[in-house]
Amino acid sequence: MNISILVFGSDKFLANLPDQIRDSTTFSVEVIANLNQAVSRIQITPPDIILVQASLHKSTDLCCWLKDQTKLSWIYCILFEDRPEHLCQRNWEWYLDMTSTALKQGADAYIWQIPEEKIDNKSAMSANNRLILAQLTVGLRKAQKYRDLLQKNDVLSAIALADSLTQMNNRRALESDLPKQIQNARTQKNPLSLLILDVDFFKKVNDTHGHLVGDRVLQLLSARLRNNLRLQDIPFRYGGEEFLIILPNTTGEEALVVARRLNRIVNDQPFTINNQLTINITISLGTACLQDEDDEDGISMLDRADKYLLKAKSTGRNRVISSNYLSHVPHLQPVSS
Ligand code: GH3
Ligand code: MG
Ligand code: MG
Repeated sequence: MNISILVFGSDKFLANLPDQIRDSTTFSVEVIANLNQAVSRIQITPPDIILVQASLHKSTDLCCWLKDQTKLSWIYCILFEDRPEHLCQRNWEWYLDMTSTALKQGADAYIWQIPEEKIDNKSAMSANNRLILAQLTVGLRKAQKYRDLLQKNDVLSAIALADSLTQMNNRRALESDLPKQIQNARTQKNPLSLLILDVDFFKKVNDTHGHLVGDRVLQLLSARLRNNLRLQDIPFRYGGEEFLIILPNTTGEEALVVARRLNRIVNDQPFTINNQLTINITISLGTACLQDEDDEDGISMLDRADKYLLKAKSTGRNRVISSNYLSHVPHLQPVSS
């Protein structure tokens, strides 16, 4: 693991740090001496560890700022005391006071950086360096744990947002994606549509062939839908045998074209379960296009598409209904084997 260290300090300060920091292949070190530059560097590419030179202008501001950033407060921050007025105080009470102030201000560790010329004895120097390296080890451990956590978090998020049967995005993902898509469409003044589809007489598939075959049909249907969407379209498994597709940058008319195509590609070719069994299914679809008066969560838009879907069901199934258009393809037997 390559650990990135940001040094908020001067080049001279860096030169005074133990050789192991600068010469190691474990660390990549960058030096910045300006607060604004440091802040933007941290925001763009957060380092694992920050070494702060106390005598540098606004050094405590950086520690305070860091601890106030919920998403960055895991960065291990070591404040190095190099201010002569503090270093000359050789009593414990003073040292303890300074340490507690530094920790309160947001540093994770507070170390005296005694300049080499001020240390007459070599073993004191190496003890100081050992302390610095030990604190770096703590920072390194923390960074490793944080990275492991992030990885696990990514895996858990993917699990939480995916449907386990079809691997499509699930309803939870929809609840988070749809408001974002609506906001994007409104900011960029682009049209946005969605379609809801439901398998016709799916209960009969289960009743005739069993739930496992029903499950397989849903998997094959998901794959067929996915393979026939444009790159920009985002499919979700909305419920049991119901799917929803967000169609970014798509007008109502274009949504109707997409819906008709899906209607056709399901209708036209049976689903092959195994050598002995193929199943024909049909789907009904409702579409809706984002209107100015629609709410930001997409509830009213969803409701509209759902109403058209119900209408598609009640007027005969295997068809698309949208606000202005009615479309259907000729019926096949809903279920056959
Ligand atoms: P309609 O044309 O009105 O939609 O009829 P339908 O039979 O499809 O509708 P209904 O809501 O009566 O039945 C839906 C069926 O889908 C019932 C349910 O058992 C089945 N189903 C839902 N989720 C799954 C699933 O994950 N696997 C399987 N095998 N079946 C499922
Ligand atoms: Mg159904
Ligand atoms: Mg249904």
